Amino acid sequence: RVVTRFAPSPTGFLHIGGARTALFNLLFARHHGGKFLLRIEDTDRARSTEPAIAAILDGMRWLNLDWDGDEVYQFARAERHAQVAHAMLAGGHAYKCFATAEELEAMRAEQKANKQPLRYDGRWRDRDPAEGGNAPYVIRLKAPREGAVTIEDHVQGPVTVNNSELDDLVLLRSDGTPTYMLAVVVDDHDMGVTHVIRGDDHLNNAFRQLPIYRAMQAIEGGWEEPQYAHIPLIFNPDGTKMSKRKNAVAVDEYRDQLGILPEALSNYLLRLGWGHGDDEIISREQAIAWFELSGVGKSPSRFDLKKLENLNGHYIRATDDDRLADLVAARIGFELSESQRDLLRRSMAALKPRAANLLELADGAAFLFRTRPLELDDGAQALLEGDARALLAQLHAALDGVESWDTEALEAAVRTVAEDAGVKLGAAAQPLRAALTGRRTSPGIFDVLALLGREESLARIADQMT
Ligand code: GLU
Repeated sequence: RVVTRFAPSPTGFLHIGGARTALFNLLFARHHGGKFLLRIEDTDRARSTEPAIAAILDGMRWLNLDWDGDEVYQFARAERHAQVAHAMLAGGHAYKCFATAEELEAMRAEQKANKQPLRYDGRWRDRDPAEGGNAPYVIRLKAPREGAVTIEDHVQGPVTVNNSELDDLVLLRSDGTPTYMLAVVVDDHDMGVTHVIRGDDHLNNAFRQLPIYRAMQAIEGGWEEPQYAHIPLIFNPDGTKMSKRKNAVAVDEYRDQLGILPEALSNYLLRLGWGHGDDEIISREQAIAWFELSGVGKSPSRFDLKKLENLNGHYIRATDDDRLADLVAARIGFELSESQRDLLRRSMAALKPRAANLLELADGAAFLFRTRPLELDDGAQALLEGDARALLAQLHAALDGVESWDTEALEAAVRTVAEDAGVKLGAAAQPLRAALTGRRTSPGIFDVLALLGREESLARIADQMT
């Protein structure tokens, strides 16, 4: 039985590292025929927002990271968390601590002055709670003081922490709200989570969370410890921690601003920190078949936008023209008519071999919808200097005489003009390109002619002849 979960805190957007964590959890669960659950950790009421939750769900759906069942909202479970804290209190694995904020402040100041580690000194651990009277209290875990805990982490290997390094963490605050550490454990237990796969920034937390399992196991049984896999974070190409300044970190930026396809991002995130031989292009199906935690690397991976764009180019070429046209149409900035939509679809075959993202694809298709007379950019302007306009007139005459408007016949006509004028094919194609697209670069010129059709092509050429 395998149950995994992704547990984002909805304080911003879906982070690219979070998306990778979710993907690994999904693949591991699917590989083992288990379940992949989603829990929204919205207990930080000041920072958790509705739009952030929506962005996470939206990003996960876009990446095809479908979770099983309904998502769990952590804040809604606060009563259950409190109930567990009280069970631990009743079972002798937790205690009431009446220390005031000022008192704890003074304790830490003293520890600091003595160059001791700052941690709660257990001053209420063995005291009679009756001494606290009616004063507010927190419930603290009575953590083991002797010995050590070793986690056999599936990625990090065995990691040991001495219990003497941990203090008695707060489970329930004086206002009755649970702490993050308690909530995570109770939720994972109640959701039946068997494998906790998350960023290695949470490794230290595992040592604070395990004693809660152990205490509850002793009290009521059935609190089996999960397996852990703490995966290295994603870094910038220069080895610094991935940050907004160096790379986009939000999944929706990759979709909206960088024109990345979800399959490409998903494939890239899979390869970022996990490997299967030299395979680069890995379908979701293959990933599910192959995914094992043993394939997760121990060292941090570096984000490489060029690699992502290479993969994206691959997926663009593999995507059918209808879907591509829809994606591009959404970026064109105005509503396409039925015939324009059809033209766009027909243009994909010529455009997709060179596009690394949807922006390039939309940009490459823009010439199709320009209105006459075309505004030429500087590069195109330059191509029409000198004898070019006279050459355009010859091209116009030759193309006008073409009987069937297909790339073969069009190429033959342009070649003849070039030969008669004693210039290379390219020298004839460039002014033609300038006249037809208003740019120096475009898809192959015969594709451009074929897509625009006889009437529009001849009219655009005529516009530039004088
Ligand atoms: N909510 C935590 C985060 O977003 C994850 C907690 C966990 O996976 O245990 O970093």
